Order: sequence, then structure tokens, then C-alpha cells
Amino acid sequence: FSLSKTYSPLSSAELIAKEKSMMDAARFEHCIGVSQTARKLAQLNGYDEDKAALAGFIHDYAKQVDNSEFEAVIKSENFDPDLLNWNRAIWHGIVGVYFIERDLKITDPEILQAIRRHTTADTEMTTLDKIVFVADFIEPGRSFPGVEEARKVSFANLDQGVAYELSHTLEFLIAKRARIYPKTIAAYNVWAAE
Ligand code: GDP
Ligand code: FE
Ligand code: FE
Ligand code: FE
Repeated sequence: FSLSKTYSPLSSAELIAKEKSMMDAARFEHCIGVSQTARKLAQLNGYDEDKAALAGFIHDYAKQVDNSEFEAVIKSENFDPDLLNWNRAIWHGIVGVYFIERDLKITDPEILQAIRRHTTADTEMTTLDKIVFVADFIEPGRSFPGVEEARKVSFANLDQGVAYELSHTLEFLIAKRARIYPKTIAAYNVWAAE
């Protein structure tokens, strides 16, 4: 496994070592899976495969950052203070980009936006946003009921993969009476609602 040198001044080995230092072995394997799936989706959709593979690899870079550190960064870096009403499920993408820019020296705005959007999706999604969002959901390590159907749909049609994932995630969140982040609902209305 290696990464293109185009999008960070760090070498592939340095990127991989930093990513590994931020998370446990299971999460690291997930990131490898998302990277490989993102590459495949890029190939199927005529997108830059190396860029998709890098974005997929680093999408959960901040997944295991402490709550107190997220809260400190939301305050010190002037993120929307409403984020403080949410939790790490929402923070690790939107606020996680801060750690990715700081530690991995990645500045490409498309990559950073795809990572911001990877948990909630958004009303407007670029091809890379969709690739990372969907790859996260269907990578080989995922095993929820419906994942085979999600893979089939997503490899056949990326937009339909986004729609499938949004409706599945909303069903899951509502079943456990979790609060829904407004962007997730707005995205559902654009991509998944009839
Ligand atoms: P992961 O980081 O690879 O585990 O996957 P994601 O970043 O896609 O999702 C992280 C968690 O956030 C999952 O448990 C999702 O179900 C949850 N999640 C996604 N959207 C929302 C939302 O709108 N509200 C809440 N409360 N959780 C959400
Ligand atoms: Fe995530
Ligand atoms: Fe996801
Ligand atoms: Fe993930």
C-alpha cells in the first residue's frame, strides 16, 4: 500500500506512519479499506484515482482525537459554536480537517471538503465528496445488514450509492432516537427523498 506524493509535502511512508499513530489497528484497517474502495470508485467514475485513494485513507485521521481537544479547537479556531452542541461523530470530519492540515500539510480544497462532508454528506456534493462518503460505507471491512446491496448499488451508480447510504443512516439514527445533524437531513432531501 502506498500513496501519491502529489497532494502533501510528506512522503507516502510519513503519511502512513502519522495516520497509524493516531488510531488503533482496526480503525487503520478501515482507512486502508476506504482508500482502496475510493480508488475503485474513482476508476469507475473517471476521477483521479490517487487523489481519491489519499482522501479515503485520511478521512478518519481525527476519529480518535479526545473530546476535550476537539472542543478546544472549535473554540480557538473559530469554528461555528453550534458544533459544541454535537459530538465526536460529527466533529471528526468537520473539525478533523484542522488536524489534517496541521499534521499532514494537505491544502487541496477538494480533499479537505470531502473529509468535512464524509459523515453528514451535504446538499451539494462533488464527485470526490461522493466517492469518500460512499467508500466509507461499503469498504470491505463493513458488515452491516444491507452492505452487499449498498455495494452493488454504489458500484453501478455513485449517486444511487449516496442515496442508499443517506436513507440507511437516517433509518439507523432514528431507530436509536439519535439527533440528526441538519446537514444530514438536508442531504437526504436532495439525494434520497422521492
Ligand atoms: P466512521 O467514522 O467510519 O465510523 O463513519 P462516519 O464518519 O460516516 O460516521 C460516524 C458516526 O456518525 C456513525 O455512527 C454515524 O451513524 C453517525 N452519524 C452520521 N450522521 C449523523 C447525524 O446526522 N447525527 C448523528 N447524531 N450521528 C450521525
Ligand atoms: Fe468517519
Ligand atoms: Fe460515512
Ligand atoms: Fe470512516
